Amino acid sequence: MKHKWSEKVRSDDGHSSRKVCERDGCEIVCVSRHEADHRGFAQHWKEWFRGTELIQRGGNTPACEAVEVPA
Ligand SMILES: [Zn+2]
Repeated sequence: MKHKWSEKVRSDDGHSSRKVCERDGCEIVCVSRHEADHRGFAQHWKEWFRGTELIQRGGNTPACEAVEVPA
């Protein structure tokens, strides 16, 4: 199942944006980070959180773990 992402919300400093999966039981948070390293090169990576727990940094998007709600 694909995540059902909310609208992206930019952080105040403009270095990251986040979106949340709106499916019940998943509610994973995807944070896109854009920052410059110590050499000034732009770096871009993603982090995924559940609550405040970092579950993955970089790589492919984790699977959606939404619970199916019977109609
Ligand atoms: Zn999801």
